Amino acid sequence: MTPADVRELPALGIDIGGTKVAGGVVSPDGTILETARRATPGASVSDTEDAIAAVVEELAGAHDGELVGVGVGAAGWFDRTGDTVLFSPHLAWRNSTLRKDLGARLQRPLWVGNDADAAAWAEYRYGAAQGSDLALMITLGTGIGGGIVLDGRLRRGSHGVAGEWGHMRVVPDGRLCACGNRGCWEQYASGTALGQTAREVARTSPAAAALLLERVDCEPERLTGEHVARAAYDGDPLALELVTEVGYWLGQGIADLAAALDPEVVVIGGGVSVLGEMVLRPARERLDRALPGRGFRPGPRVVAAALGAQAGIVGAADLVRKAVAEGE
Ligand SMILES: [Zn+2]
Repeated sequence: MTPADVRELPALGIDIGGTKVAGGVVSPDGTILETARRATPGASVSDTEDAIAAVVEELAGAHDGELVGVGVGAAGWFDRTGDTVLFSPHLAWRNSTLRKDLGARLQRPLWVGNDADAAAWAEYRYGAAQGSDLALMITLGTGIGGGIVLDGRLRRGSHGVAGEWGHMRVVPDGRLCACGNRGCWEQYASGTALGQTAREVARTSPAAAALLLERVDCEPERLTGEHVARAAYDGDPLALELVTEVGYWLGQGIADLAAALDPEVVVIGGGVSVLGEMVLRPARERLDRALPGRGFRPGPRVVAAALGAQAGIVGAADLVRKAVAEGE
């Protein structure tokens, strides 16, 4: 493949979440030309890899012509090279040699890494963080994911697990987290947090949560973040209050990240970000009050992701293009 081919041909991007494998044929300008998806059979490593291979075959079949390679972003912690998935909370990978296994099956150039890293790269290349010296991505979904683009490069840390700020401690001895610690940021600013707070309120003061409880046949344990998000859209005052609280915690965490890293822009993506200004406005207000040295220094811009749910696919495709171009 010539350098011109690498610049001009499309690449495949694959985004692996807890429930689905989604893929796309992506042109060099970030346009998605074809898409395909499969359910993620998370119980076994080989089933998940079968689903990835099936999506790749379908897309390669649908696309008439050569492809640069395959970029794969997955919800999990990777080592620095992307060779090994150290841990994936929703899938079966535990110290799995994903890149070697997939490389042997697909016989194509491969980039493998964290899904939020891929999203961060997409926002830097084509979206809300274009041209930024230091951009941070925060994906608000079931938990909080993150990515760092510094001086035009994706930074994965010394061991590959930089940007996992969902596990910064924001509340001493707070809510228990799947990572083994208490009080992690994602326990207060995520879709899961939204659901948990709603259930707590509904259990202790059902009258205040009457509108929310109507959505789940008066069974508080069934309330999820999605119920709260929909209720907030419909103007339910309690739901709006809970969403504002998530925004407050988001802004507090961003202030702490600003203290450590001084980013130019912080891009908010993931499922919860569909709430837009309902979350972003309180986040910016809290950031203004909590930024260290406020009044005497600039803070980061806090903006919504531009590429939405496709960011992982677009970013992974561009990252394999970059890897091939640089001979990695
Ligand atoms: Zn944690």
